[in-house]
Amino acid sequence: MKPDKFKKIRDSIEKEMDEKRFAHTLGVAYTAAMLASIHGIPQDTALLAGLLHDCAKCYSDEKMFSLCSKNNVSYSVTEAKNTALLHGKVGAIIACKKYAIEDETILNAIRYHTTGRPEMTLLDKIIYVADYIEPGRKPLPNLSEIRKLAFQDLDAALIMILENILNYLESCGKETDPATRETYEYYINRRD
Ligand code: FE
Ligand code: FE
Repeated sequence: MKPDKFKKIRDSIEKEMDEKRFAHTLGVAYTAAMLASIHGIPQDTALLAGLLHDCAKCYSDEKMFSLCSKNNVSYSVTEAKNTALLHGKVGAIIACKKYAIEDETILNAIRYHTTGRPEMTLLDKIIYVADYIEPGRKPLPNLSEIRKLAFQDLDAALIMILENILNYLESCGKETDPATRETYEYYINRRD
C-alpha cells in the first residue's frame, strides 16, 4: 500500500466520526495489523480493513436504508429493527464506492464484522476479534484471556467472543441476529 493511501483514508474517516469512534477505529486497525502478522496474512490488508470497518457507523438509519436500496443490498428483519447491525453491510458499500477498495476479502471483513458468518476467512476473523479486543475497549468478561488467546488460537478467541455476545444479548433480552448464533454453532462444532 502506498504510504499516503492509509493517511488519505484515515483523514477522511476522521471527519465522519466522533473522537471516540475514531480512536476505536485506529485501535482496531493496529490490533488487526498485529494479528495479521502473527497469523500470516498481509498487514496492509488488515490495516485497511480495520480502518474501514466502522466507516458507516455514524450514519443515520435513513442514510443506511437508502444506501442499501440504491445498491440493491438486502437486509434482514433483525437488521431493519436493530440498525446497529446494518453498518457492516453499508460500510462495505462505502469502502467500495467512496474509498475504491476492490479487494473482496476486505469488503467481506467489513460486511460481516457485525454478525460474523460461518466459514469466516482469516481476515474476517481478525477484524471481528480486533474489534472486540482493541486496547480502548472497556473491560468486558474474560477480556484479558481473550486478548491472549487471539494471538495463539484465533478460533478459540472467536468462540469466546461469540459466546460473550450471545450471553449478553440474552441477558438483556435483545434480539440476536441469526447469523451470530449460526457462526457460534459452526465454530463450536468444528472444535469437537
Ligand atoms: Fe462496527
Ligand atoms: Fe468497531
